[in-house]
Amino acid sequence: MQNKPMSVLRYRFMKDLGAPLLFDLQRRRSIGKRKRRRSPHFGPPLRSNTRLRKLLTRHYYLSRYAKGALPVAWVTSGAPVELLRVFDFYTVYPENHGALCGAKQMGTELCTAAEGHGYSQDLCAYARIDLGHHFTGSTPAGKLPRPDLLFASNNICQTVLYWYKALAHYWRIPLLLLDTPFNFESPSDAPIEYLSAQLEEMIPALERVSGRRFDPDRFMQVIALSKESCALWGRVLDTMKTRPAPMTIFDAFAHLAPIVSLRGLEVTRVYYRALLDEMQERVDRGIGALTKERKRLMWDNIAIWFKVRQMAELFAARGLNFVTATYTNAWAETGGMIDPGRPFESLARAYSQVILNNNLKHRLVLMERLIREYRVDGLVMHSARSCKPYSIGQYDLKRGISDRLRIPSAVIEADIADARAFSENQVTSQLELFFEALESHSQPIS
Ligand code: SF4
Repeated sequence: MQNKPMSVLRYRFMKDLGAPLLFDLQRRRSIGKRKRRRSPHFGPPLRSNTRLRKLLTRHYYLSRYAKGALPVAWVTSGAPVELLRVFDFYTVYPENHGALCGAKQMGTELCTAAEGHGYSQDLCAYARIDLGHHFTGSTPAGKLPRPDLLFASNNICQTVLYWYKALAHYWRIPLLLLDTPFNFESPSDAPIEYLSAQLEEMIPALERVSGRRFDPDRFMQVIALSKESCALWGRVLDTMKTRPAPMTIFDAFAHLAPIVSLRGLEVTRVYYRALLDEMQERVDRGIGALTKERKRLMWDNIAIWFKVRQMAELFAARGLNFVTATYTNAWAETGGMIDPGRPFESLARAYSQVILNNNLKHRLVLMERLIREYRVDGLVMHSARSCKPYSIGQYDLKRGISDRLRIPSAVIEADIADARAFSENQVTSQLELFFEALESHSQPIS
């Protein structure tokens, strides 16, 4: 890819002047606006919420001007983006965009648009939202840049392969796939050589698309940054082991976004350093996310993005705080395995071990460990219609947890971003039973 001088100038102008001006304008507009009344069930809000909003707004805002100035790639959440950072790719994460569309109540509209072009309602909502965006151009982010490259790994599911193939077909652009065999037995079975050879073989294609040379030193620096950010995120989550926990998992769902979509960048490391400082300050001062944390819960699966606020309120009103989740833990869990001294091999190992690429026994062991470490009193599992790999097996896991730890648990059926799969009555009655079981259960985990 050849940089276009005008595009580079425009991108730099927006980065250095446009984005700061936009934030200043937003700040001025918000002065004097009536703030939404804060629920009495929550403690003081996190200062980092404002920083997060700025970081993500800037990311999506600048993405509009990236095309022509930088190579642009669309990337799946489980792909080793560290390799792309070496070539200065501006990365966009359709899954993160799907979550944003869900949270902004645009998920169903975009899913429906994709279905109008023949895609099944059973396809993952993130994929339908992305395809719906392709057909309509609608997005709460203003505009997304058309990519020069698609970069995917099937370590989270096979859906991404067919979804990205469709995009590659529509736009006639290259797709690089890290084919990751599933770990049927143990995570250590991963064929590391096969995976690391694929990564090395991608280099000529990345050089061709980006017009930049591979720099091994820069690769090591990016990996070191990524590793440190994952470790900081892990330490942020660790602070939730204290009573009261300084944030809820609903906060963590939002603060997860930079580790997913801005991994390997300095800005992300700085962001998590400051978030950790704020968490530690709250722990030292005994500030909880809830005004009264009576019981502690664990969440399994991706968030119900279009209901996050209502869910947070529903549980907080009962003094129930989600203090851990398999989902938020995912990036903290494997980030420690990457090693700047063994870049290809360690990336291959880490990315082969993401939660959805392992068998159910592995997940059961992980959940049991989290329940013990975070002193959890009950488990809520979101059976997401969209995400089959995360949802299949949840009833077995529920039984396994119940047999081993004897804590109350519930499965609620909903979706990540398509509101048509959510029944208020059904979820309410499932949760009422859970609340009753939780109140009558007093046995602490040994
Ligand atoms: S099916 Fe699940 S893992 Fe795959 S893209 Fe959708 S939400 Fe992600």
